[in-house]
Amino acid sequence: MNSGKNRGERFPWGHERRFNAYSNYFRNLYGARIQKVSLDAGFTCPNRDGTRGIGGCTYCLNDAFNPSYCIPEKSVSKQLEEGILFHKKRYSEATKYLAYFQAYSNTYASVSELKQLYEEALNYPGVVGLIIGTRPDCVDNEKLEYLESLSKRCYLAVEYGIESCYDKTLKRINRGHTFGEAVDALKATAARGIYTGAHFIFGLPGESREEMLSEAAIISELPLKTVKFHQLQIIKGTVMESEFKQNPSEFQLFTWEEYLDFFIMFLERLKPAIVVERFTGEAPPRYLAGPGWGKKRTDEIVALVEQRLAELDTWQGRLYKKLH
Ligand code: SF4
Repeated sequence: MNSGKNRGERFPWGHERRFNAYSNYFRNLYGARIQKVSLDAGFTCPNRDGTRGIGGCTYCLNDAFNPSYCIPEKSVSKQLEEGILFHKKRYSEATKYLAYFQAYSNTYASVSELKQLYEEALNYPGVVGLIIGTRPDCVDNEKLEYLESLSKRCYLAVEYGIESCYDKTLKRINRGHTFGEAVDALKATAARGIYTGAHFIFGLPGESREEMLSEAAIISELPLKTVKFHQLQIIKGTVMESEFKQNPSEFQLFTWEEYLDFFIMFLERLKPAIVVERFTGEAPPRYLAGPGWGKKRTDEIVALVEQRLAELDTWQGRLYKKLH
């Protein structure tokens, strides 16, 4: 008996792709391609300004991940104008946009300041919602109450940087918060009906591959709508670069081949209802202090993961019920 999925058969997420893909999720919601436009609204971060810590997470260099049009000196509207133009050249079919407050901690200000920035984005033509990246220790009841009211008017997701489910790792990378704080923030956000997202890194120092794989069960129990994953990359100019140079043996960086094998096993254990936005991250090669994977575009990586899933006749969540 063939226990696998036959071509043409739909998975629980309603389409034939072998994972619960973010792009399909938005197509289902809006019937069209939705483009995220990144913003740098000039926030800082409590793990940098001394409130929770100084110097930030050991791997952090925010500039490495900011598109060129994201300059905090420019207004939110100006960044949206330039960002939409930038994407139009590449994806002309997108007519609806999500303003992605990406850089640093985008709820780290008073509610009145947040209102001003978020409303400016929502008033921009074509913007149908907001995605707000932040830290678990940068939300409170007042902010969540405001976000809940916004979520009734538009698509709204709060994305938390969680990075690891293990406190020993969070301490090691100087995150300045515990996993328990992340779980509390997620629960408080989801309880208000706000979409929640989270970001995790694979390959952090001190974590074994088995521990990383076990995170699939932990993450599957969180009240999450979407997730992003990426492999650890050592970025020039970070604390982690010095640590890496001093003690390279503490780091077990994934080669692309290892990561592909690992990620397939991880996906098989991940709850089918969780939408997966990213498998990997790609800092521009000029920022990398450690080995990279060469020039692999995101769409190539997605194609390779899907090809491997098909070769193995497996899919996201295939082992979820068996293992949890
Ligand atoms: S919380 Fe984010 S912005 Fe702040 S130091 Fe860590 S990675 Fe950087």
